[in-house]
Parts: sequence; C-alpha cells; structure tokens
Amino acid sequence: MNRVVIVGRPNVGKSTLFNRLAGRRRALIHDMPGMTRDRISALSSLADGRSFELIDTGGLEYGQNPLSAFAGEIREQALRAIETASVIVFVVDGTAGSMPEDEEIATELRPHAEKVVVVVNKIDTGSARDSAGEFYALGFERLIAVSAEHGINLDELEQELAKRLPHDPDEAEAGDETSPVRLSIIGRPNVGKSSLLNRLAGSERVVVSSIAGTTRDAVDEWIERGGRRYLVIDTAGIRRKGKTTDGAEKLAVISALKAVRRSEVALVMIDAVEGVTAQDATVAGYAEEEGKGALILVNKWDLVEAEQDTAKRVEETIRSKLKFLQYAPVEFISAKTGRRVDKLFDQIDRIAESHRARFRTSELNQILAAAVAKHSPPSVDGKGRKFYYATQLRSGPPTIALFSNVEQPLHFSYKRFLENQFREALGLVGTPVRLVVRGRRGM
Ligand code: GDP
Ligand code: GDP
Repeated sequence: MNRVVIVGRPNVGKSTLFNRLAGRRRALIHDMPGMTRDRISALSSLADGRSFELIDTGGLEYGQNPLSAFAGEIREQALRAIETASVIVFVVDGTAGSMPEDEEIATELRPHAEKVVVVVNKIDTGSARDSAGEFYALGFERLIAVSAEHGINLDELEQELAKRLPHDPDEAEAGDETSPVRLSIIGRPNVGKSSLLNRLAGSERVVVSSIAGTTRDAVDEWIERGGRRYLVIDTAGIRRKGKTTDGAEKLAVISALKAVRRSEVALVMIDAVEGVTAQDATVAGYAEEEGKGALILVNKWDLVEAEQDTAKRVEETIRSKLKFLQYAPVEFISAKTGRRVDKLFDQIDRIAESHRARFRTSELNQILAAAVAKHSPPSVDGKGRKFYYATQLRSGPPTIALFSNVEQPLHFSYKRFLENQFREALGLVGTPVRLVVRGRRGM
C-alpha cells in the first residue's frame, strides 16, 4: 500500500488537511495496531481509484522536547512513516512565515527530499498568499499553496499526489511477466477449437484442473511450454460437442463470454472456408468489449487453394467484418496439419506482455505531446482542449488517463487516433488501449 505522510510543526493545519484529504473519498479510518493515538491513519483514494494510506504524524513535535521518552517513541514512529512513505507532505503555516522548527524538520527530511512536497497552508489570508514563495528557502523543489480550512487549491495537491504515487506494487505482481497466461479459444462449433487445443497441448504435459468453487463444467487445462504455463479457460466448453439447436447456440455464446472474461488473450477462430458469420462477429466483439488481448486465427487453411495474395484478400475481408478487432494480429493456421500452430506461442506471449505492460508517466507524456503536435485535439463547445499530462491507471489492458482542461470525453475519431499513436509508440501487439479523460476537478 502506498503511503502519504503529513508532517509539520504543531498548529500549521496538519489535521485540518488530513481531514480534507481523507474526507474526500475516505474508505475507513482504522486504528493500526501498535500505533499511538498521535498518529492517525486513513485509507483514501485518488479519482482514478488508486488507494493510498494517509498518515498524519500529529505527534511529531521536533522543536519541543524531542529527548523526552514520550516524544522519542512518537518520533520513532513518525520517522518510520517517513522512511516508508511514497510522498511526504510537509505542511507549513503561511501566516507565520518560516520558523526555526520548520527548518529543523526540513533538515530531517533532506535525505528524502525527492519525496517532499511543501504545502504552504492558510493562504486564505492575504499575508500568507504574498509570502508563500519564501518557503522555497527550505530547499525543496515542489511547493503548493493551499488553504486546508477553505478548500483552496487542494485539487492541485491531489494532482501532485496522483503524479507521484507509484502504482500499487501488489497490483503489479498480479500480472508479472512469469505468471501463467490465461487463454480463451472462441469460435463457432466445428471451427476447430478442440483440434487446436490438442495441437497446442501436443505432447507437452497436460494437467486438467477443476477450479475450486466453480461448477464441474468450468474445467481449465494447463499447458506447459518452455518453462511457461498457459491456462486454457473452459476446456470443457471447448470440448463439448454442440447440438446446433437455438438453445445450444445461445448457451455456447454465453459460455464464450464467460471464458473471455476470465482470460487475458482470446484466440478468435474463424473458418477459412466459411468466413466470418454474424455469430463470429458477436463473440469476437466480446474480446474487445472486455478489454482483452486478441489473436484472430483463420483455421483450416489447408483447405484453401492459396494463390499469391489469397491470404491478403482473406485478411481484408475478415478485418472489414471485425472492425473492432483492428488491433488483433491475424494468423493462417491448420489445426489439422499443425501448420504455424507452434508459432502461436510466441505471438500469444507478445500479446500477453502488451496486455500486462506498464509505462512510465514521462514516456506517456512524450507520446502524448508528439501526438498533439501532429494533430491538435478538436475543441469542445468552442473551448480549446489542452492536455496537462498522461498517466497509466492500470494494465490489462493498458488504461491511460489524460488530464485535460475539458472534462468531456474525446471525439471518437480523435480518440482512435490517440489510441493508435500510443499503441504504435509503445510497441503494443494485440491489445486494446483504453483512454479516459479526467478533468481538473476530477482529481
Ligand atoms: P495541526 O496541529 O498541524 O494538526 O493543525 P490543525 O489542523 O489543528 O490547525 C491549527 C489551527 O489552524 C486551527 O485553529 C485551524 O482552524 C487553523 N487552520 C487550519 N487550516 C487553516 C487554513 O487554511 N486557514 C486558516 N486561516 N486557518 C487554518
Ligand atoms: P470445435 O467444434 O470448434 O471444437 O471443432 P473441432 O476441433 O471438433 O473440429 C471440427 C471438425 O473440423 C473436425 O472434423 C476436425 O477434424 C476439422 N478440422 C479442425 N481443424 C481443421 C483444419 O485445420 N483443417 C481441416 N481440414 N479440418 C479441420
């Protein structure tokens, strides 16, 4: 869990600021075991849903008797909080000007300078507004003037937090590059799903496992290859041979949707001879709607008398019918002969990697700037749109927030343009990119 720690001498407004920041989207205030009453902690979150622990080191009174046993214990805790913090909010009182105790605290914080944001509080009073700049003398780069009590400029502070808080390490681990890739294989009856599964599993060790807590129907299958594991979702559904009644078709569509939801990469199978049907389009659409990686497999290629540009023509036809899957690569395979099936693993790895990828804010900002230089965003209701910065909210699929002066969503075609710019510049393969606009007030 990321931590934001508030420090400062008494009476500068720490607890007022704490309540403001925690109060906005506070989930709960909890008593951490082993913590004195002087250190208050709350679970709070940013507009993008990232949560962080907010800690008020109310008892950290540097200037006052730091050698007493009591102060020592509190001090110990406060220092620990500082060590483990992602951001240190150093509150000073703008009406009082820089005090010796502020400087003492600044000295303590120096080793963590890159984490420090100086917050000059009480700028609702004129004198504080004018003298806020003098706190740069404390030696920290970032300074924000606010009024905790009157809620002035807190948006700017939250923006700063959003910029600085790393994405939750726990969240990142969930999809690290070595964890098994979850695959779904979708397509109409007889398109060749079971044949492909048999091919993929091949002579490799195959373990069929029932996922605890689900019905016996949801049987997944592990494939191990080159030390990497793949989980094929709903193998039972793939193997079940459908009677082609209406009811059975509907059930097949529903179970495909469930399998897609649980997977990261969907293998969308199309019959080379029959082409794309309406049902294919429906089921393939789930992959995009659910934000999954996708790979289009044109199966039974052995039955096609391929001339020089047959593949190209077929691909064009498929793409025109599956427009929403522009991001998905196309492979021409034969599950029966094994043509190009072995190559699929590399492609699947690449897609999973793209789907799980995380990018630095600085890189995203560069791409955004270059894209805007190519094509400036259309104005909204006569108002020019500006972007302040881009940051990745999550992966699976990469989801990027664009902070803008205009809160309205992007125009469809401009959004498509930006998505493509990001996908290209980031080298993403087979994954959608999601863009969301955040207004300043949404911070
Ligand atoms: P702490 O000891 O650092 O936790 O400070 P408190 O939050 O208890 O605030 C100390 C005093 O400053 C209280 O009387 C608050 O009402 C006042 N205060 C806090 N924020 C502001 C502000 O933005 N403007 C003004 N004028 N007073 C404030
Ligand atoms: P599923 O219902 O999607 O699981 O499809 P199956 O894997 O059971 O395949 C249906 C039929 O198509 C079977 O008779 C397979 O042998 C045949 N089939 C599957 N893949 C290919 C292929 O690449 N080429 C040819 N010629 N036939 C295939």
